[in-house]
Amino acid sequence: MTQNENPASLIVIFGATGDLANRKLFPSLYNLFSKGNLSKNFAVVGVARRSLSNDEFKQNIIKSIGTVSNDVDKMNEFASHFYYHSHDVTDSASYTALNEIITDLDDHYGTKGNRIFYLAMAPEFFGTIATHLKEDGLTDVSGFKRLVIEKPFGHDLQSAQELNNQIRTAFAEEEIYRIDHYLGKEMVQNIEVIRFANAIFEPLWNNRYISNIQITSSETLGVEERGRYYENSGALRDMVQNHMLQMVALLAMEPPIRLNTEEIRSEKVKAFRAMRPIKDDEVKQFFVRGQYGPGYVNGELVSGYRQENMVNPESNTETFVAGKLMIDNFRWAGVPFYIRTGKRMKTKSTKIVVQFKDIPMNLYYKTEQTLSPNLLVIHIQPEEGITLHLNAKKAGQGIDAQAVKLSYANKGVDGINTPEAYEKLLYDCMKGDATNFTHWDEVALSWNFVDNISDVWQNTYANFPNYEAGSYGPRESDILLARDGFFWWPVTNLDVESC
Ligand code: NAP
Repeated sequence: MTQNENPASLIVIFGATGDLANRKLFPSLYNLFSKGNLSKNFAVVGVARRSLSNDEFKQNIIKSIGTVSNDVDKMNEFASHFYYHSHDVTDSASYTALNEIITDLDDHYGTKGNRIFYLAMAPEFFGTIATHLKEDGLTDVSGFKRLVIEKPFGHDLQSAQELNNQIRTAFAEEEIYRIDHYLGKEMVQNIEVIRFANAIFEPLWNNRYISNIQITSSETLGVEERGRYYENSGALRDMVQNHMLQMVALLAMEPPIRLNTEEIRSEKVKAFRAMRPIKDDEVKQFFVRGQYGPGYVNGELVSGYRQENMVNPESNTETFVAGKLMIDNFRWAGVPFYIRTGKRMKTKSTKIVVQFKDIPMNLYYKTEQTLSPNLLVIHIQPEEGITLHLNAKKAGQGIDAQAVKLSYANKGVDGINTPEAYEKLLYDCMKGDATNFTHWDEVALSWNFVDNISDVWQNTYANFPNYEAGSYGPRESDILLARDGFFWWPVTNLDVESC
């Protein structure tokens, strides 16, 4: 596709002076521009309250994209498409002024009446902005109109439903692009290819050959400056409801009949519907929560969660979740999907480990070395790649077996050499491809799943802190797997390069 075949569009970014816009959105748009993946007919209007001239805003853009480029001419050419409008989104009057600006820019840049509204702002504004866009005529367009909306989408099913009703008055479901940036990650998108393009995996991808699946997403950082947000969210809402359950759905779904948005989403929705709900009295059996206390991360002493900025010193908020999910369908009956995510853990890593069942008879047992189970490991971040763990003969005399690893490294590190997730998602949105965005049905089903757990946790006071910063979470997380005869595969020993 050449630059001019890419759809012309005018992008309005609400929250254009914020962290997300500066760290992710501007550099991602610039990368699209410099690769020729952005139509020459594009313009961006940044919206935020603070007063800035167009020139000052353009300087902010240059500073932001300086993280990914040093081509001054290209950077200036890119920034020349940017404009700023100072506007409090709760103030009705300035939507009319905004509409005039984008109508003029539409003429000037030939954006064909195509408008993308990107809400990079606190979630409490999402509904208000959508309502104003409609009431003040900004959604009356001659081209396409699309709404890109950041997480969190509500804080439970009821609030998500209310928000959805509000934005649906202004945008149809197919015009709403709910961002889950994990779905833009290279190796998350690779799950479908690994599964559906390999004859050696698809026949084994079921309860006859897979014993369990483990998904770990661990961070070494604490809550940093986000204490206020995190206190009302916790790991369950911040990570499990969206990113973790999305990965479960991609691993568990049936092969779609076609690789298009509708078919893929429809299979994911079925996977969500097959997730066994956790009843109140089962929460303890299937889910573990944790909160970090002080400890050492990478050799540095860090404080506990309750001592962080804007955090209640008696906080009951979880910074760690481990859970066991059962998918009640023919393919997965009996196979546990274990998920674990937490802050201030020993390493930063997102990995999926698919553990295959043992062979029926172990001929090598007599050599005092039990065979290792076959593992397929999908490395999502920071490394990207795939490793397949097999058994092979130990070189030399005798027929002893040893574990070996076949490894494919995706040339580098997530966020550096592969396109940033936001770059891919912005490009998809401009092309009108919503496959890697979450449909309302997925959002509703995933909230329904986690609401039960969070209700129980909110109503019972936990004995926190229960894990040291710099560890792999509370002991109960290991017990969760040990009860089924499994253990968490140590994420560091599985590294893609260390073979
Ligand atoms: P942020 O740094 O706090 O930025 C908020 C932006 O909103 C600023 O540009 C602010 O500018 C503007 N704003 C605040 N109140 C306003 C009002 N009444 N009218 C107009 N503009 C207003 O937030 P962020 O970290 O960029 O996050 C934005 C959204 O992305 C949130 O929903 C967050 O959950 C989500 N998100 C962020 C990240 C990330 O890496 N940062 C990752 C995933 C999701 P003024 O103060 O000048 O008005």
